Amino acid sequence: MIVRWGIGELDALLGKLGIERALLVTTQRFADLELPVHARFSGVQRHSPLEIVAAATAAAEGADGLVGLGGGSAIDTSKAVSAGTGLPLVAIPTTYAGSEWTPYFGMRDAARRLKTGGSGANTVAVVYEPTLTLGLPREETVGTAMNALAHCAEALYAGECADASRGAELIARWLPAVVSDGDDLESRTGLLEGAMHAGMALAERGLFLAHAMAQALGGRYGLSHGAMNAICLAPALRFNARAVPDAIASFGRSLGTEDPASKVEELARLGGFVRLRDFGVPETELSELAAETAARPGAAANPRSAAAADVETLLRSVW
Ligand code: NAD
Repeated sequence: MIVRWGIGELDALLGKLGIERALLVTTQRFADLELPVHARFSGVQRHSPLEIVAAATAAAEGADGLVGLGGGSAIDTSKAVSAGTGLPLVAIPTTYAGSEWTPYFGMRDAARRLKTGGSGANTVAVVYEPTLTLGLPREETVGTAMNALAHCAEALYAGECADASRGAELIARWLPAVVSDGDDLESRTGLLEGAMHAGMALAERGLFLAHAMAQALGGRYGLSHGAMNAICLAPALRFNARAVPDAIASFGRSLGTEDPASKVEELARLGGFVRLRDFGVPETELSELAAETAARPGAAANPRSAAAADVETLLRSVW
């Protein structure tokens, strides 16, 4: 994977890759950004709905490459188009979600109220541009940074991982600074660098219980993936502590604490993420959500076996 810092690098990068007719895949927010692209699709929506992926794929007719720019939803949408068409993708993330590092992607099937997915994206390069993150609101900043922190925590389950440790350290250091001044470029750059390491750790190690809970919640209610990760990470860490105590301790060292779950809750509170009920999750559906979570690959791969009844207890603890 080619990695560049600075959007000014994009033109030369596309040239080096031999891409002459790039399609930009993004949201309305970045629709008119000055970029060296040939065509634009700016209809990306949260959680990459299936019909939006189909529309973006149709827009790729005649393109010889893709530039996916935005949060995880824009990156996942462009990855789905890349997988379907074989076109090379240059990803430009504008949140801390880390999707640029994995070949797989999620898509929301709204009719069935769940997240489906696929794999096989041909991502060839990532361009990081911290100034694009300056306008990211506090909730999205904290949520997507907590998603990145969950990548770090879960990557450590399988043993030491330099990117996971570095990512956690940078996120814990720079997230509070970004929350107190979202326009500070040094803090934004530090946080984006942390997210880059977190994404690399995700690609190396995969995702587990906290992510499975967040995905089930996102699939059912369309809720923010970041916010759901922020709420689900602490209970998943406490649940897993018995199975992977060294991993939890290592994560704590990166965060500068002996109680990483409490530190995670403290960081999540910066975005106002505390309880599921605040997001309208009905208490009556927690047992169905638990069953959906337990059936997800991330739960099945968790280092401590997580049956639906266990997950329900965890969901209730943060409801
Ligand atoms: P998102 O892409 O939906 O963005 C959240 C909100 O922030 C949107 O309203 C978006 O328009 C806005 N936004 C994005 N960048 C902005 C900026 N710089 N300034 C102002 N507003 C901005 O959310 P996300 O949390 O980045 O990504 C979540 C999605 O990505 C989920 O669907 C999740 O499943 C997926 N994801 C996939 C992977 C993977 O490896 N495949 C990894 C992480 C996340």
